[in-house]
Amino acid sequence: MARLYYLDSFRTAFDSSVADVADGWVILEESAFYPESGGQPADFGKLSGLAVTDVQELADGRIGHKVDGALEQGARVTGSIDWDRRFDHMQQHTGQHLLSAVFEELFQIPTLSFHMGAAVSTIDLDVASLTGAQLEQAEQRANRVVFENRAVTVSFEDAATATGLRKASERTGELRIVTITDVDRSACGGTHVRATGEIGPILLRRTEKIRNATRLEFVCGGRAVRRARMDYDALSLVARTYSSGVDEVAAVAVAQAERLQESEKARKKIAQELATLQGRAMYEAAAASSDGLRRYLHRGAVTDEVRAQAQAFVAGAKAVFVALSTDSVLIAASKNAGVNAGAVVKSVATRGGGSSQMGQGSIADAAAAEERIRTELQWPKESI
Ligand SMILES: [Zn+2]
Repeated sequence: MARLYYLDSFRTAFDSSVADVADGWVILEESAFYPESGGQPADFGKLSGLAVTDVQELADGRIGHKVDGALEQGARVTGSIDWDRRFDHMQQHTGQHLLSAVFEELFQIPTLSFHMGAAVSTIDLDVASLTGAQLEQAEQRANRVVFENRAVTVSFEDAATATGLRKASERTGELRIVTITDVDRSACGGTHVRATGEIGPILLRRTEKIRNATRLEFVCGGRAVRRARMDYDALSLVARTYSSGVDEVAAVAVAQAERLQESEKARKKIAQELATLQGRAMYEAAAASSDGLRRYLHRGAVTDEVRAQAQAFVAGAKAVFVALSTDSVLIAASKNAGVNAGAVVKSVATRGGGSSQMGQGSIADAAAAEERIRTELQWPKESI
């Protein structure tokens, strides 16, 4: 069989010869390299010392190897598989078979697709949402099957007579069937471990709604251990920051966030009160121009505090307050100032408006807006 991994997923080295070189792809008489397919990435490794950087199934069904160097047709080659990468893929892939079977068994939820990423893998489940309890139950069941170390075997059966498949195969003729004893039978051309114990721990992570399906992230084996280590390190750092234990830090963080929200609310209230007092003081300090108006120009962002200052300023008689930043404007005027604040804002803003006493908007050209406002409000030069 040209595909050595079909019968032995644990084969890491092999000898063969170059059958063909086509469009930059090296085709061997036989190969243990797995080509990217079925959601599982390609194997990496070496062919006679040259790096293999990609393996794909070509249009004619042959396996093409992308090799970092030249190999001639007929050359004898020694192949070696990057085993860490392959075994990681085998753990994730077999874990996927098991998880998909468990979601069928427990909740009759079929798996629509599988994707193996560099850090996490996902299955798309044919269900609108999953509860936390369902996730926990599925995780426990899957890990129990791991602990039972059930055999994972490969058989070749005729599509017409193969029964008990989790998902009906669209292929005809001979099927390669991967069986997890008494849990799952699936037609699959991928690489798998020999027994469920080799999958290692299975950790379910976040879910995401994808149209009407639910995408579930999971990690198996070495990835699960590394992930748990990263999670623990992150949690320890957070716990230290809060001077708390790892087990208590979630409750401590929630309580702190609530307190922070309350203090922020109190701070805002005090800032508003302060701004109101400042606005009044600014009014008292402002000298009236020859037309009897007291004017104040604030250069800078229009914040809630500035708005409160403006309101307090124009609470006094015959007063106009302008706040101008590079992209926004606020104008406030007292009732008896003879100024329509909203109309002036509208005349300079790209968007915005307001009442005769208070207007706010966005501006595109601050210098032009200021010039226009001066004219509209007959703002004497000496007061700016
Ligand atoms: Zn498979």
